[in-house]
Amino acid sequence: MLKRLAAVLGLVLVAAALAPAREPDMAALRPDQVAFLALYKELVETNTTLSSGSCTLLAERIAAHLKSAGFADADITLFSVADHPREGGLVASLPGRAKSARPMLLLGHLDVVEAKREDWTRDPFVLMQENGYFYGRGTSDMKAMDATWIDALMRFRQQGYRPKRTIKLALTCGEETTYAFNGANWLAHNRPELIAAQFALNEGGGGRTDGHGKLVIEQIQVGEKAVQNYLLETTNAGGHSSMPVRDNAIYELADALVKVRNYEFPLKFTDTTRAFFAKAGAARDDELGRAMVALSHDPADQAAEAIVSRDRSYHSMLRTTCVATLLSGGHANNALPQRATANVNCRIFPGETVEQTRAALVAAIADPAVSVALVAPIRPLAVQPPLDPSIVGPAEKLVARYFSGVPLVPSMSTGATDGIFLEAIGIPVYGVPGGWTDPDGNGVHGLNERHSVQSVFVGRDFLTDLIKAYADAP
Ligand SMILES: [Zn+2]
Repeated sequence: MLKRLAAVLGLVLVAAALAPAREPDMAALRPDQVAFLALYKELVETNTTLSSGSCTLLAERIAAHLKSAGFADADITLFSVADHPREGGLVASLPGRAKSARPMLLLGHLDVVEAKREDWTRDPFVLMQENGYFYGRGTSDMKAMDATWIDALMRFRQQGYRPKRTIKLALTCGEETTYAFNGANWLAHNRPELIAAQFALNEGGGGRTDGHGKLVIEQIQVGEKAVQNYLLETTNAGGHSSMPVRDNAIYELADALVKVRNYEFPLKFTDTTRAFFAKAGAARDDELGRAMVALSHDPADQAAEAIVSRDRSYHSMLRTTCVATLLSGGHANNALPQRATANVNCRIFPGETVEQTRAALVAAIADPAVSVALVAPIRPLAVQPPLDPSIVGPAEKLVARYFSGVPLVPSMSTGATDGIFLEAIGIPVYGVPGGWTDPDGNGVHGLNERHSVQSVFVGRDFLTDLIKAYADAP
């Protein structure tokens, strides 16, 4: 793998150079890598936070690049809505040569999570390179992949490469915010013909290192859970706190929350999670690994389930989960509470509806005095994409070529991406492998976000090859 990485990066590296502390030699970059780096830098340095940035501005800059690479005006659509002028996006299309082949879609979000200069070590909106990493908001989530998608389409156009199937690109705003405008959702509802595709490639997969620069696993994300918030509410006539009664809105809510805590949703598998537990379990040589394999073969194995569920991420991959996240109640410290509310945040297993989940909460609480209501926005049902060999196969082949000995494991995300909006209109979405992150999460959504320099460049080459493999597949 070391040799391969060095060769792919086009740099003269000795094995020790892969340690994060050693700076890659940027003077050795190929001309196409220099151009790609300039694009990546422009993306990171164009602020796209909701509070002070503009996805619309970045989309316009990207459109100008695509046009300079030879894209016709008719192949590019910029969009935004009047209420959200800075939250626009773009769709572009590289026409394929075979009319019978359905298009594929490259999906990406342009927006980034807020970043406060005073909290960061470096300016979050200046791309800086240090210790083998690029630093800046969006370096990992997800402007490296955005730049890769844009750069691939530009080079394909410049090289006169005509894929068999049309390759579409949709770059949108609002993935990182729950209550603002969501471009992917808007496209799915208002311009579905623009993004119509047999399948889409997105963030959500990728590699993980051991924290010391060694890549240990690659993942392809096939499916995700849906997020839905519920409001639990109790009310009471109240009165003077000097004369309390047992019937109390806060106690009633507290009793309900204890029942929510103690309720465990039933264990479920999808094809993806069954394959995940079998493969990822087999790759470990410990009690947890053996339990993961056993559970994937027999979901009724309670001893195995108890061991696997000790890991909070695996526990969440096996079922719907709901947890109390916000609490409020009462109106004065000397009054009996007239009202108490709690937000319960659920992560719903693919195929289960928001109504079924509400009904499960109501049944677990078993108190008609506690109301359980859906909180807007109401997210669509998580549709499980198929574990399709024509998608997983080419990815597996490329992982073996680029990262010899590293397994590719299908995974289901317990978080959420924009994929859910496309799956709702029948486009299966896959989170691609390629670039990698460290076990600490690379500061994504947090402070000092970073992305390994090698991951950026190797990931780009990997994904360019992956796009071509799908675009020209028979
Ligand atoms: Zn993201």
